[in-house]
Amino acid sequence: MAANFPKQNRSTHILSASREICRTIKQSDAEMRQKYPFLYHQDVICAIIFAGSLLLITLFSYLYISSFISAIWTVMLIALVLSLLHELEHDIIHNLYFKSHRWIQNCMFIVIWVAKLHVSPWYRRQLHLKHHLLSGQINDAEERLIGLGLSPNYKRMAVSVHPFGGLLISDDISKDARYLNLFTLQLHNALMGLTSFFILQTFVGYNVFCFFYSCLDYDINTLIGFHTCYPIIRTLAVCLCFPNVLRQGCLVMMSNSSHYYGDIPLNTVYYQNQILDSWFLFPFQLFCFNFGATHIVHHYVPSQPFYIRHFTAKSVKHTMVKLGVRNNDFGILWRNNHYTIDTREDEKQRLYGKCWFAACLFLGFPLYILWDLMIFEKFNRNVIQFIREQLLKRNIKRRDTTTNNSELKTNEKVMDANGSTMNDDMQKLNAFVNQIALYDVSADQIEEVNTKAA
Ligand SMILES: [Zn+2]
Ligand SMILES: [Zn+2]
Repeated sequence: MAANFPKQNRSTHILSASREICRTIKQSDAEMRQKYPFLYHQDVICAIIFAGSLLLITLFSYLYISSFISAIWTVMLIALVLSLLHELEHDIIHNLYFKSHRWIQNCMFIVIWVAKLHVSPWYRRQLHLKHHLLSGQINDAEERLIGLGLSPNYKRMAVSVHPFGGLLISDDISKDARYLNLFTLQLHNALMGLTSFFILQTFVGYNVFCFFYSCLDYDINTLIGFHTCYPIIRTLAVCLCFPNVLRQGCLVMMSNSSHYYGDIPLNTVYYQNQILDSWFLFPFQLFCFNFGATHIVHHYVPSQPFYIRHFTAKSVKHTMVKLGVRNNDFGILWRNNHYTIDTREDEKQRLYGKCWFAACLFLGFPLYILWDLMIFEKFNRNVIQFIREQLLKRNIKRRDTTTNNSELKTNEKVMDANGSTMNDDMQKLNAFVNQIALYDVSADQIEEVNTKAA
């Protein structure tokens, strides 16, 4: 495994290549809108996708409950629809729909929060906008919480497959990303996290109990009341929990293998992503709206809706690859997401990278209950620790110290030391990042963040 990762530079070539890619994407976007003018009606399209998704989830759940479709088909079909709701949530985070109707955005957030059974969208907004500003840096909390920079081992597998896997590594990340308050993180994960733990562990526990009971040749029906609640638990597991595990697992695996980390300069979009569009990844791309192939386009132009991005990505791929953007760099996993390639190791690392996806598919998902117990135990430990700290009245002092620490770790100092390109715009951007990264990003700052990140 390569040990040294020299920092990449912001050269003139890189800056002009970034500008050209950005211009090509915007041109492709404009052509699409000119050809299909209805694309300008973003609010209407959002409402149609939102309502259509909810109707489809209801329909598939009804078909499952009525025994028209099997559990496996239900999980896959609902996961496909949930990937649309995830994209809508992301676009609303970027304020692309109902800009002047915040209450509609908030209503959609509530529904999506329940449907996705994950962290609250308002909290995700804070982390995600900072991800655009700090992508690939040690304080890029959002991506690091889904495994960016980890070695390909059991921990990365757990973080990739389990929707709340980030709790396993959040302690370390909060030391680098000072704005990540562990208490707040846990609080925003608690409601859906506990619901998910309860449903899945009851579902698995029930089936394990039934299995052993039947092995011992007892009649399970003699246990009065044992089956009463199970149909509800099974329906929630099949129609809500498992589709989200599948969707989130596929999304995270695409995301944490398409972002670079650690040895890239701050706010240099050229180095932030690669294009992952190999046929080998089709099963993962299917449940995350082709994330691996299109997310790079989003980093260049965050103000573009996801349904246009999907088509733009195809038309601009040639330009990006011609200008040196990496395509299907599977070795990224064995380099812990570093950009620098060791050419002697690259071929081997690419093969190992492909094996990693197969391992996650055939080992990571089947071992889900293990990760679930591991993360649940960590969740409980965090709660106990918090209660203990409250009782000892130490946590207030500790959190105050964290919040008041004005020194934010960015790569600014590293860049200066390396003598890399530092112009006025960069300095202004760094100042902007420092100004807001410690605090919540307000709705009014979203436009500014989008512009700066572009
Ligand atoms: Zn990203
Ligand atoms: Zn975004």
